[in-house]
Amino acid sequence: MVPAPLWGVSLAKLVRMKTSELMHLGLKPGVIERLRKFWFTLPRDECVVCGSRASDIDEFWSYYVGDGRGIARLVSLRSLCSQCHLAKHIGYASTIGKREIALKHLAKINNITLLDVDRLLDKIYDIWDSLSSITTWRIEISEEVLPEDIRVEVEKTLNRLLEEKYTRKSH
Ligand SMILES: [Zn+2]
Repeated sequence: MVPAPLWGVSLAKLVRMKTSELMHLGLKPGVIERLRKFWFTLPRDECVVCGSRASDIDEFWSYYVGDGRGIARLVSLRSLCSQCHLAKHIGYASTIGKREIALKHLAKINNITLLDVDRLLDKIYDIWDSLSSITTWRIEISEEVLPEDIRVEVEKTLNRLLEEKYTRKSH
């Protein structure tokens, strides 16, 4: 689950934004082109969790908190099937009425009962609550997640997207 302050700030979001919007965020056309090409040629053959046919690229983020500030670091990109992707974003699944499907899939792939899933989710929600209470975040992209010639520019752009999100909110 993605902490609430970081919703809508992702590589997937960037590759779906219009070129003009991306340029407004300071991204050069050449970098935009390379980012899209990279994203759309990522392998989507097999789900790394359950082995079924993959359809989605999942962004694996790690979250660190210190002195009331958070760092969200994109650690890797993995191919997932739509069900595993949905199960990973249980909050999102709930908002589109697919919570039950996601919970059952979580139980199945972890070979646990729905009751165990509920208990696990309680813990996950606690972590999510505390991460979501952090309002100051910095975004980092680990080396080797993106081609080195675009990594730093894309990282800057994600941070600008995050800033803009807050600027818009306060107006
Ligand atoms: Zn899967």
